[in-house]
Amino acid sequence: MPDILQPQPYVSPWMKDEVADVVTLARTFFEREVTPHQERFAEQHQVDKETWLAAGAAGLLCISVPEEYGGGGGTFAHEAAVLWEQGKAGDDAFGYSVHSSIVAHYLLAYGTEEQKQKWLPRMASGELVGAVAMTEPGTGSDLQNIRTTARREGEHYVINGSKTFITNSSHAGLVVIVARTGGEGAQGISLIVAEVDELEGFERGRVLAKIGQHGQDTRELAFTDMRVPVANLLGDQEGQGFYQLMTQLPQERLAIAVGAVGSAELAYELALAYTKEREAFGRPIGAFQNTRFTLAEVGTDVLAARTFLDHCVQLHVDGALDAATASRAKYWTTDVQCDVIDRCLQLFGGYGYMLEYPIARLYAGARVQKIYGGTNEIMKELISRTL
Ligand SMILES: Cc1cc2nc3c(=O)[nH]c(=O)nc-3n(C[C@H](O)[C@H](O)[C@H](O)COP(=O)(O)OP(=O)(O)OC[C@H]3O[C@@H](n4cnc5c(N)ncnc54)[C@H](O)[C@@H]3O)c2cc1C
Repeated sequence: MPDILQPQPYVSPWMKDEVADVVTLARTFFEREVTPHQERFAEQHQVDKETWLAAGAAGLLCISVPEEYGGGGGTFAHEAAVLWEQGKAGDDAFGYSVHSSIVAHYLLAYGTEEQKQKWLPRMASGELVGAVAMTEPGTGSDLQNIRTTARREGEHYVINGSKTFITNSSHAGLVVIVARTGGEGAQGISLIVAEVDELEGFERGRVLAKIGQHGQDTRELAFTDMRVPVANLLGDQEGQGFYQLMTQLPQERLAIAVGAVGSAELAYELALAYTKEREAFGRPIGAFQNTRFTLAEVGTDVLAARTFLDHCVQLHVDGALDAATASRAKYWTTDVQCDVIDRCLQLFGGYGYMLEYPIARLYAGARVQKIYGGTNEIMKELISRTL
């Protein structure tokens, strides 16, 4: 019998058996390949190409893609184990989620056998990095309104347009482009995969200066009469892109939620440790009632977020995560993340505002979680439509 007078460590029910091994593997990967290089990644606005290869060699990329395509043969629980450890490592430079949880799954769900064989093994090894290009300078939330066109000319699509805020843009060799192959509205949208290295008409724009996530290569992309084989269309006919996006977005949103809770838990642990050491008025700041109450509150928030997250992860592993529940997970956990980190940062005083302290980087990095993957307002819009 557990001693109920003592706090019991919480273990997520899905983090068991070989998923627990993935947690350990991912922790080691972030400790060795990412955390020691965080400052350099931030300065160069990207991770190293070797970071991708090391993740591939460790078996972390495309971990929930079947082994026949070079993946790890796991479920979303395995994917979530990596995302969780990334959150707990305080890393926001490595674009794992876009590559592994999103792009690989577009290929897996809608690719032909030939497309899967061609791209997934190279994505699993880290040789080919994936990006997804939806957002344009003129439209983000209103995805049905995108202007990038893909005009059919013989056996090619001729693509024209520009995208912005695209994660993994410096390293990406494979870009899933949301383009208009038909008329206005959702029915005119298709997903086309481009192998962009040395592709004529493809241009990587400037690296965008962000308030946080400095190690992440977020850029604009431009397509000028860029020719892509018709065989690179995802799906058996044009016009399915919007439906394909809507079907895959719940996984993207849940992936964001996993990182959000991992990061919030890290902030709580950092604050707990700091307030035991830092002294004011002759005693540790952790001894003040305000500090103790703040820590009691944020620790409760993190636990509540984690148990809700676990519910959603299990639903997704069982194939039962609906779009509205994924939206609830995305908006609420990212709100909790920003709130928890803000309150923990306050306990660091001025040091909390200094970028050399992880809590400051967590604060700056967290803000965008409420914006990308569909803004939190759009999440509430989607939920409210189901009421
Ligand atoms: C760091 C970063 C990385 C990103 N990575 C990628 C990527 O890899 N690929 C990609 O395609 N995109 C990416 N994005 C883009 C991101 O998904 C969009 O920024 C987001 O969807 C919002 O679109 P927007 O910026 O055009 O804002 P807008 O759509 O212009 O929204 C502005 C404001 O209006 C609100 N709003 C809009 N419509 C409604 C409505 N119907 N009801 C209520 N409020 C509304 C929004 O919630 C928001 O508060 C990234 C963005 C950032 C900042």
